[in-house]
Amino acid sequence: MNLQSNSSSVVIVGSGAAALYCALNLRDDVNVTIITEKTCTDCNSYLAQGGIATARNKEDIPAHISDTLKAGQYKNSVEAVEILVNESRENIENLLKLGVDLDKENNHLLYTKEAAHSINRIVHHKDTTGKAVVDGLLAKVKSKKNITIEENASLVDLLVENNQCHGVVYYKDNNYIKLTAKDVVLATGGIGGLFKHSTNFRHIKGIGLYLSLKHDIKLHDTEYIQFHPTAFYDESNDGRCFLISESLRGEGAVITNLEGDRFVDELLPRDVVTKEILKEMHRTNSNHVLLDISHKDSEYIKNRFPSIYSNCLEKGYDLCSGPIPIAPAQHYFMGGIAVNLNSKSSMDNLYIVGEASCTGVHGANRLASNSLLEALVFSRRAAKEINTLIDDIKLTEISYEGNLDIDTVKKDSLTTLIKYFSSKGDFIKNELVNY
Ligand SMILES: Cc1cc2nc3c(=O)[nH]c(=O)nc-3n(C[C@H](O)[C@H](O)[C@H](O)COP(=O)(O)OP(=O)(O)OC[C@H]3O[C@@H](n4cnc5c(N)ncnc54)[C@H](O)[C@@H]3O)c2cc1C
Repeated sequence: MNLQSNSSSVVIVGSGAAALYCALNLRDDVNVTIITEKTCTDCNSYLAQGGIATARNKEDIPAHISDTLKAGQYKNSVEAVEILVNESRENIENLLKLGVDLDKENNHLLYTKEAAHSINRIVHHKDTTGKAVVDGLLAKVKSKKNITIEENASLVDLLVENNQCHGVVYYKDNNYIKLTAKDVVLATGGIGGLFKHSTNFRHIKGIGLYLSLKHDIKLHDTEYIQFHPTAFYDESNDGRCFLISESLRGEGAVITNLEGDRFVDELLPRDVVTKEILKEMHRTNSNHVLLDISHKDSEYIKNRFPSIYSNCLEKGYDLCSGPIPIAPAQHYFMGGIAVNLNSKSSMDNLYIVGEASCTGVHGANRLASNSLLEALVFSRRAAKEINTLIDDIKLTEISYEGNLDIDTVKKDSLTTLIKYFSSKGDFIKNELVNY
């Protein structure tokens, strides 16, 4: 197969919040190529409902840090958590400057509460925050002359020599392209596509993780996989489960068994609520439980959760008039490719941002709405370091002798990762797709 050659100062793989925000924080004189598997909006960032966590003000910083550490069962990197929270405010302000539309009243940001947060500190755009973030950032990216976007482009491999990354190989329109770059940023997201039931897009399958295993790039905390307690339970489900945001519980929704009895405090951390639901499902021999917010005013529900309301209605359930069926589903990967506080991996010139990375901020369990925040804070830190160091890096084209068959690469990636995660315990093993 013919391999075409091209070059770019920086290549970013992925088009979620981490990728787009990283691109926008790079210098205007650095040319950037974004390559992404499908269209730019086919990313988990686009699906985010609840919002983005941020310290409300200086006084709230210790409490946000403490909530994050508590939810993470104190397995977090304290240094990374401090950065996350200390830099939260400035990044939300940057988002607003970049044109992202967040809900306000009288020109002041509105804050909601989600599980395990001690106060209301989640900024949002109704229940479609991710769409507002991606739409806002994408419009800005498209207006920049130094950024090129390649959609429908699948990552095949990294160009590696002596533990240094010199670019990527990708597949697009029946062609394989060798894209030489000074720095590579992987923003390829989580691992939901490896699981039978996940709230993630099915094509997000941990390609970054696979390539890290292939090239001996360090990983961290890969046993920490989050199952969201409240995904819509749908027997005809084809794999991607519709998420019922935590913010419904933050606004008073209750979880009951099929008899209507409450059995868990809805605002405990995700892993605790998930375990209690699974126990109750086991005890009552049922494949789902119920979530009910119908005691709230109908107009309020429709206005605050328009997307969840209409999605449930399409599935035959009216949030305003009764409970909906829910069950836990894989949702988020706390572990990932190990990075330092500027998002650099163990390989030279290779940065990992967003869910693909493991900065250590989430510990064993992510606090709600801290992941978009992590994507922003640490992708900006990556961009800042790249801006400082890139002029001293020489663009070096190396040869590529690897496999040039996208189907074989995808198959190998899937079998490698299924085998890898099968060793992480029986619960995870049983939840993985059969392959
Ligand atoms: C339903 C849902 C609701 C959520 N709600 C919230 C919330 O309210 N608040 C919050 O903080 N977090 C939320 N999260 C988590 C959060 O959205 C994600 O963790 C975060 O958006 C990840 O951003 P990212 O940029 O790292 O990756 P993503 O946005 O997932 O982007 C990954 C990108 O990589 C691309 N890619 C993948 N594989 C390849 C390949 N082989 N070749 C080329 N490109 C590839 C994808 O196409 C995609 O563009 C939610 C997640 C889901 C699924």
